[in-house]
Parts: sequence; C-alpha cells; structure tokens
Amino acid sequence: MRQHLTKQAYKSVMAAMENGAKIDREIADHISTGMKEWSIQNGATHYTHWFQPLTGSTAEKHDAFFELEPDGEVMEKFGGGQLVQQEPDASSFPNGGIRNTFEARGYTAWDPTSPAFIMGTTLCIPTVFVAYTGEALDYKTPLLRSLQSIDQAATAVCKYFDKNVNKTIATLGWEQEYFLIDSALASSRPDLDLSGRTLLGHASAKGQQLDDHYFGAIPSRVLNFMRDMETECMLLGIPVKTRHNEVAPNQFELAPIFEEANLAVDHNSLLMDVMRKVASRHHFKVLFHEKPFAGINGSGKHNNWSLSTNTGVNLLSPGSTPMKNLQFLTFFINTIKAVHDHEELLRATIASASNDHRLGANEAPPAIISVFIGSQLTKVLDELEKVTDGKLSPEEKTDLKLNVVGKIPEVILDNTDRNRTSPFAFTGNKFELRAVGSTANCANPMTVLNAIVAKQLMEFKEEVDALIKGKKLKKDEAIFNVLRDYIKKSKKIRFEGDGYGEAWEKEAKKRGLSNNKTTPTALKAKISKKSIALFEDLNIMSRVESEARYEIEIEDYAMRIQIEGRLLGDIARNHVIPTAIKYQNTLIENVRGLKEIYGKDFKKVAHEQMLIIEEISDHMANINKGITDMTEARKKANNAKDAVETAHLYCDEVKPFFEDIRYHCDKLEILVDDELWPITKYRELLFTK
Ligand code: ADP
Ligand code: MG
Repeated sequence: MRQHLTKQAYKSVMAAMENGAKIDREIADHISTGMKEWSIQNGATHYTHWFQPLTGSTAEKHDAFFELEPDGEVMEKFGGGQLVQQEPDASSFPNGGIRNTFEARGYTAWDPTSPAFIMGTTLCIPTVFVAYTGEALDYKTPLLRSLQSIDQAATAVCKYFDKNVNKTIATLGWEQEYFLIDSALASSRPDLDLSGRTLLGHASAKGQQLDDHYFGAIPSRVLNFMRDMETECMLLGIPVKTRHNEVAPNQFELAPIFEEANLAVDHNSLLMDVMRKVASRHHFKVLFHEKPFAGINGSGKHNNWSLSTNTGVNLLSPGSTPMKNLQFLTFFINTIKAVHDHEELLRATIASASNDHRLGANEAPPAIISVFIGSQLTKVLDELEKVTDGKLSPEEKTDLKLNVVGKIPEVILDNTDRNRTSPFAFTGNKFELRAVGSTANCANPMTVLNAIVAKQLMEFKEEVDALIKGKKLKKDEAIFNVLRDYIKKSKKIRFEGDGYGEAWEKEAKKRGLSNNKTTPTALKAKISKKSIALFEDLNIMSRVESEARYEIEIEDYAMRIQIEGRLLGDIARNHVIPTAIKYQNTLIENVRGLKEIYGKDFKKVAHEQMLIIEEISDHMANINKGITDMTEARKKANNAKDAVETAHLYCDEVKPFFEDIRYHCDKLEILVDDELWPITKYRELLFTK
C-alpha cells in the first residue's frame, strides 16, 4: 500500500482498518488507482467483489479492467465507484424470502478491514453483500456488526482496569480438518462426487484401530500437495503454520496463526478455495465433509477465540499482577455466563445436516453445550464463590488478592489436563469451540460468540456501576460481588468429566441443559424470542434477518437429505443390485454345472453356493423395499405444509432408511466377487502412499 498509494490514501485506508473511519469518494478514486496499478503489475487482468453468500461458499463475478472509450481507444479502468460498490444480480442466492426475485437487486460493498488479494489473474476485493433494502445476505455483515458490539462492550469493561484501552478485537485461530482422496478414485463414486460423503461402503479391515496415522509421517504425495498449497497461502497472506496427520487414514489438519476474527474468517473461506484448486493440480479431491466415511473419525474445525486490546493484552490470558488477573477473571467468567445463558443458540449455530453425523457420535463433542475450565481454575472459582455479599473486610481483600487472584499464572502453566471431549474448553489463554463442523463458515459461530459475550459484558457493567453508585462499593468490591453471582448462576454449564459418556447425557438432562440432537430441532433456537431480541438489541440482525437465515438453513437441511436419499436410491438400484444379480448368475451357472456333473447328489457340492444365492436375493429384496418406502417418505416430506415440517420429516422419516439400505448394500459388497464390484472400496480410497 505504501508503494502504490498516496500518503493521504494510505492513511485513510489505515484509519478505516483500525477505527472503522469512512473513506470519502475522492480518496477511494486514489485507492482504486493504486490497487489497479499493483494488481496489473502482478499479472491481474480482471477484478471482482469477493463475498460469502449464505450458500456457505464464496462468490465472485469477474470484470475485465479493459474499457472502450467513445473514440475507440482502449483503457484499463478501475475507479473508486467500482471499488466501493457493485450490483451483482442477487436473485439466485439464498435470501430466505427477504425479497422476491422481481426486486432482486442487492449490492456488494467494500470491506477495507480485509485486504484485497490476487487470485490467479483476478484482483479480489472482500465485500459485504446486502439487499437493496439493507438486510444482510451474507455471513460477513452480521459478523462485522458483532465485532463492533464486542469492541464497544469489552472496551467499556476494560476501562475499569486500564484507561488506555480504546479498542478491543476478537481473535480467531481455526484448525481445519480434511480428507484427501485420489481424485480418479473419488470421481468413481457418485456419492462422494455429489454429496461429499460416502453413502455406502463396507468398513476396511484396517481402519484407524492401530492409531498409526495420527501425527504419523506425512505421505510424500500429500506433503507435495501441502507444500504447494502453503506456498499459495503465504502469497495470499494466510499465515498457515501447523500441519499434521489426523486420527483417520487420509485425514489431515492445517492451522494458521490466529488473526483478527473477520480476517481469519475470510482467510478460512479463501483457504478452502485454495485447497480445492491445489488439490486438483495434485490429482486429489479434498473432502471437507464432517463425516465422509462411516466407522472412522469425521472432521471438525476448532474455533479458538479470544479478545485482544489495542494495548496488546489478551484478555483471556492471566497476567502478572492481581489487578490484571481480576481483569482476566472478569472476561473469563463473563464468557462462561454468556455461554450458560445462550447455550441453545450456540448449539444452533453449529447445526447442519453434515455436522449431525459428528456431534454426539463418540468422536466429537456432544450436542450438549458445556464449558470445561480445568481443575485449577475450578478451584479459583470455588474460592471466589465464597466472597462476602456487599463490602469486603480488609483481611478478605488481602486474602483474595494474594491467595486467589494473585496465584493464577503459575496455576495455569501446569494446567495440562486438556479435556478433548468438551465442546467449549478453556485452553490457557483462549476458549476453544470444538463443535464447529469442518464445512462451516466460521462467521456464524463467531457472530454468536461475540454477540452473547458483548451482551453479557454490557449487563456486567451495568450491575457493577449500580453497586458502585447504589451501595457505595469500591470498584473491585463491586466486581467481586457481581462475579460471585455469575459463578453461582452459571454453574450448571460447567462440566469437567467425559463429555462422550452416557452418564453426562443423563446428568445434563437433570441440570436442565438442552440436548438438541438434530439440525431441525437445534435451529429453532435461532428464532426464539431471546435470540431475536439479543440480535436486535445489539443491531446485529433484525427480526427479518434472523428469520430469513432460519428459513435458509432449514431448507438447506431438507435439500441435502433429499439429495442423499436420491443418490443412495440411484446407487443401490443402478450399481449394487445389477452387480449382485451378475454375481448371482455366476453362482447359478455354477450350481447348474455341478448338477450336470453330480446329478441328484449335486447339493453336496453346491450347498454353500446356494446359500449365497439366497442371501443375495434376501439383501436385494431388503434394498428394494427400503428404497421404495424411502421414496414414499420423501414424497410425503415434499408435500408437507411448510419448510419446517418438511425438514422434520426428512430428518425423522426419510433419513432413518439410509442406514438400513446401506447395511444390505455393504453386506453385498463383501459377498460379491471383488472383480465385479463397481464402487471403489474404503480400503482402496483411504490409504494414500
Ligand atoms: P490444539 O492443541 O488445539 O491442536 P494449538 O494449541 O496448536 O491447538 O492452537 C490452536 C490454534 O489456537 C492456533 O490456530 C493458534 O493460532 C490459536 N490461538 C492461540 N492463541 C490464540 C488467541 N489468543 N486467540 C485466538 N486463537 C488463538
Ligand atoms: Mg484444538
């Protein structure tokens, strides 16, 4: 930017990035000229507004810099107007009924806080995407609004501890899990191709039981892909850092250094695009689906979240003095309280058809939201819970400062007992939301986390100020008092035990925590009175926006199950059954031949073959019946009275057939001659050398 912008333009972009200052039109012209120069020098021929519509992927429409002047001269043009705002036709993006197609105008607007980048030969400008009437049609808009809320709320609370704080940002470090499959093999399977997961396939004799893949040596073919992909990431400014094998065969993870949340979200979306492109160059298909293979682990995307101030302090990192630790405890306890108050909404933001396979499946956090903080911090909170109501005696104050708040740093350092079964765990200097699905756009959970914590911090400040004013408490006394109340009130969300166990499900029920196991049930929390009010109060989403998103997600759910149902039906009828018949015919031919040779004694030698013939018929009958019944159930679901009922019917009446149909297909897979089987098997897909 320094090389290509005027001093004034540079300052203006920096001010917009740092404080959200407006960029005026004249300056925008300077900036666009600089951007054009820079990108053309780097080989760009086109530009695009790059945004994240509610389809879950990224969108772009390229325009050439090339323009024709009236006198026939050719110019390369990219003005401030084109930088700041564009009008793509919004009618074909999901909008949840916000607009009818005849008034389908929407526009994209430049987000200067996320740097423009060059992908191939295209200059990409990160933008928000909104309807002409102002409603958000993307993930970024509510995220940016939530970041503003958390900035205001957290900064106001920081002033209790340090007057120099005037900006707080949320930070996000995601960890992306994925599978890599040879692309030729993957293309041979219609289910992988069209739904991103295998809908059938018998388990491989060897899967992940030997634990030999996790952190193992990375196969060289995969390493070549990773190096190539990482180079592209670095050129795009994505600070990728960690790479390793995951638990399942052919499963890997990539994590960057954390960044400001909006930038981190953009970088995750961009990374997923880059990975797909680079993978195809290496003849791999990358699978982001949460559960591409049955019987081995699925993939998630841990979201590590914290808050950081302009003074360089991580608010979720304990400090070196009692006062700094009181600040840490304030943000720590308020976050726990926020999750306690909005656990159902947090659960809703990670709900999707594909993540349903993972949550609660004994490999990933359960559908019950709880918070893990470790034994040492539990002790600290237990101590704080005993704080006297109202004014504190000088002795108590000293004791609190020296023995409770003063001791945190060394405590945290040896808090190594990380509980991997918790959906929301404190890991030393950040919270880690582990239930996010690997396909998800992180903006969704991040928006909610920022919103609920912002709301909570505002309430906290009001309560503390009221105690200072009303009861004439000192500032730290008031803070201790309010924190003590929050610890008591949010106790039921804290859980340190095994989140995968059945005992926890029972215990959670007793505690009154929600356990919404499927997407249609979980999504409801998005339009509860409480959630709508939360987003409205903070100006993050209007009622219309909340309801539209709910509608889009509920429809998306039904469509995905519908696609899977159709696919499974097609594969079972067009691939599995014909192959089974072919093999059965071979057996019949064999029996007939034996009869010719052995006469009436043929059963002695044909006995096993005849059993298999019957077994095959039996499985085929079950498959056929399953598909017929499933198709009926789909018809009913499609004709339901509204989208919500359709989604519930797909979930409760259609999806249950999948397992049964699959069971019989998988049995046939291990009966039928391997040479005839037309669908690439798990053992062939999963072990890249
Ligand atoms: P794990 O042990 O869960 O595999 P790591 O300890 O390697 O993960 O860290 C995971 C992620 O947490 C990384 O992306 C890292 O950048 C991120 N992280 C570290 N500190 C913060 C922070 N203050 N805010 C947000 N993310 C953070
Ligand atoms: Mg992690």
